[in-house]
Amino acid sequence: MAYQDDRGRWFEGQGLWQHVPASDWQDWTWQLKNRITTLDQLEKLMVLTPEERRGVAFAGQKLALAITPYFFNLIDRADPQCPIRKQMIPREAEMIVSAEERLDSLGEDEHSPVPGLVHRYPDRVLFLVTDRCAAYCRYCTRSRLVSNAQDYNFHPEYEQGLRYIESHPEVRDVLLSGGDPLLLSDRKLEHLLSRLRAIPHVEFIRIGSRIPVFLPQRITPELCEIFRKYGPIWMSIHVNHPKEATAELRDACERLSFAGVPLGNQSVLLQGVNDDPEIMKALVHRLLRMRVRPYYLYQMDLITGGSHFKVDVRKGLEIIRALRGHTTGYAVPQYVIDAPGGGGKVPMNPEYVETMGEDAVVFRNYEGRRFEYPLKSTPVETATENLPEHAVSAVPRDTPSVLKD
Ligand SMILES: *Cc1c(COP(=O)(O)O)cnc(C)c1O
Repeated sequence: MAYQDDRGRWFEGQGLWQHVPASDWQDWTWQLKNRITTLDQLEKLMVLTPEERRGVAFAGQKLALAITPYFFNLIDRADPQCPIRKQMIPREAEMIVSAEERLDSLGEDEHSPVPGLVHRYPDRVLFLVTDRCAAYCRYCTRSRLVSNAQDYNFHPEYEQGLRYIESHPEVRDVLLSGGDPLLLSDRKLEHLLSRLRAIPHVEFIRIGSRIPVFLPQRITPELCEIFRKYGPIWMSIHVNHPKEATAELRDACERLSFAGVPLGNQSVLLQGVNDDPEIMKALVHRLLRMRVRPYYLYQMDLITGGSHFKVDVRKGLEIIRALRGHTTGYAVPQYVIDAPGGGGKVPMNPEYVETMGEDAVVFRNYEGRRFEYPLKSTPVETATENLPEHAVSAVPRDTPSVLKD
């Protein structure tokens, strides 16, 4: 499954929607209104495999089908193995539920002091502000509530959530997610961000969103102005495969960056999509070119009907080993498993240490060569009188000012 990175080329254009005026195409509300959501619409655009046809028929009871025209263009309609197709088009395998899978695999509902707010870690909360997304990933970790296909009837409680954060001074970090927070109107988003910014103990605000990937048209100058005004707002986008790194995504990331939004990426390791060191390397290189720092690589959560996407953890470790040292350190994400049942994210790292003794640690580098780092110091001679004078009486010429809150 070697991936040939088409260096320097970025997909752009209207593809199947050439007949649509560019002004409509660029309008995010047009993209939302014209999403592909039914079997009929899908079959007019492409030939489905029998597995996909049965999957689409079942999707309505699990997680709705929705694909923006912009993102649909990235599907290779001639290839059932297309990595974009696998992420977006339901397959029959979604109906197979394994014993270890759970609707709420991360135990989020048990850690919710108010509906839609998950307080798992000491200093930060996850604030689910909507149950809707621009398009639905078939491996969604919150398919229990997102799109409401399972009648979960999730209603975000903004006021309750904000009051909880206001009355918990230990919460210094708020992560807006859902659903996709960028589907909210500018007005609602501004309301939320201004309320959060007004809370003195909230130091860090971030948004988890796949909108730049599904709907880059949503990243308007007006939206960027809101981020600038209430910034710093950090953002984690979600790109899984280098094919998703289009000219449109690159431009949207640029608009966000120029508005002062630091960008990270979260990928999910998915069978037949990105479980390959070459694909992952092409992806992280493309991300850096778009000013996006790879942040997490997730082992897939044990959600119901997700086993056809599951990748062996050893493969994940092999991917990290293939990146670390072989390419830019900024390009290497942290591989994590979000502990089933609700233990939080735990790093999975390849083993470089061979022995950790009293006297030395012995380890291998990225090439497999062995090294030793002594833990004890063995003085040879004491010769301070031989040191140059400035090294002994070093007084800083300028006293740096200390950042005060
Ligand atoms: C992922 C997550 C966070 C954020 O974790 P970081 O490691 O700080 O990115 C916070 N709360 C919950 C419930 C999460 O799942």
